[in-house]
Amino acid sequence: MDYFNYKNGELFAEEVAVETLAAEFGTPLYVYSKSTFLDHLNKIKNAYNALDTTVCYSVKACGNINILKFMAQAGSGFDVVSGGELYRVLQAGGDAQRAVFAGVGKTDREIIEALRAGIGYFNVESEAELETLIELAKTEGRKAKAALRVNPDVDAQTHSFVTTGKKESKFGVDIDRAERVFARYTKNGAVKLCAIHIHLGSGGKTIEPYVEAVRKSLLLIDSLRKQGFEIEAINLGGGYGADYVSGYSPSAEEYASGIVPLLSGKSLKLIIEPGKSIAANAGILLCRVLYIKRGGEKKFVIVDAGMNDLIRPPLYDAFHFIWPAKVKPGLEPVSREEAITASGLETVDVVGPICERSDYFAQNRALPPVIRDELVAIFSAGAYGFSMASNYNARGRAAEVLVEQDRYRVIRRRETYETMVALERSG
Ligand SMILES: *Cc1c(COP(=O)(O)O)cnc(C)c1O
Repeated sequence: MDYFNYKNGELFAEEVAVETLAAEFGTPLYVYSKSTFLDHLNKIKNAYNALDTTVCYSVKACGNINILKFMAQAGSGFDVVSGGELYRVLQAGGDAQRAVFAGVGKTDREIIEALRAGIGYFNVESEAELETLIELAKTEGRKAKAALRVNPDVDAQTHSFVTTGKKESKFGVDIDRAERVFARYTKNGAVKLCAIHIHLGSGGKTIEPYVEAVRKSLLLIDSLRKQGFEIEAINLGGGYGADYVSGYSPSAEEYASGIVPLLSGKSLKLIIEPGKSIAANAGILLCRVLYIKRGGEKKFVIVDAGMNDLIRPPLYDAFHFIWPAKVKPGLEPVSREEAITASGLETVDVVGPICERSDYFAQNRALPPVIRDELVAIFSAGAYGFSMASNYNARGRAAEVLVEQDRYRVIRRRETYETMVALERSG
């Protein structure tokens, strides 16, 4: 699942003891495993290799340009949702042709930037956006390809905040309206509407919502083709589960086993946009224990990372496995899940220093006892960790370190007090 493992009671990122990294670069610290990123990318590529597939890694999951760079070199395309993300891809040497641009609120400036970069597909989310895209492509004298994002009205049965493929969501157009969009906009001379895009949102635990969405999309594609519209690609979006809990989510091969047979022989290029299934387990957040506090019925472990560093627990009610970086023999975690029942554990809340009740990483969690200054790892923090980090409470964002086998380097320096106020100074 990843390259973060305990050896003799000590946590390693690939071949580097994480204590070494924390000692050298301080905490809180994001640590990424390059091999894990590449392993996940390759597993996905292999799972779908029976089809003409482009894997477009979703930049918003974890968009450090050093990560995008080795992903591009390994043959990844990219899914971007803003001009800023496209800029990151281009800075990383990524190929705009193999990038797709989604988002419900693309600005004119962002559309023009993507047109000039030669983006692979615009994933168009509304008729109004498509009209704007056509107009801007004409004034720019550029041609572009577009996929229409349709709402297959499938519930990925996840947390409601991260479900985006249902009918009432703000994303995409309803599947029954899609044919009218094709009929109305296909002949425009600038933008070739030639693909269908769906994205079910995040966190499905089974492959069924994907299978159902592909079936519904294929009905639409068949019908469109019968009417003479040329459909060259289907983009299935992202949202594939990641193993936040050991063995919790389907593997890439399992998703592919449901999806590939439906699409083979259909003369459709496949695009997929995995984010967290690549990045989540490729990163951990290291923090140190500041204080232990006994309050009422609870025991709190207060660490030096906060919700500004990793907001997923309060935002999505997300589970992150947490464990000390160094443990006594016998206390190495055997799997990553909540109900660990080794003896000698105690039940604690792991919380940050921020002035919000929602500043927690785990509640009522069984952990080996920890003491002040002890190093603790928050696992599966690679996706929507750093990319959602903020400066709330004027806390500089953490440094990011990339590990590859026994080598490591800082790929983003820790923010300082001064970097946080620099843009506020006049002149
Ligand atoms: C966020 C997003 C993704 C990636 O989602 P994951 O859950 O990280 O796989 C893919 N496509 C689109 C359009 C997105 O908005």
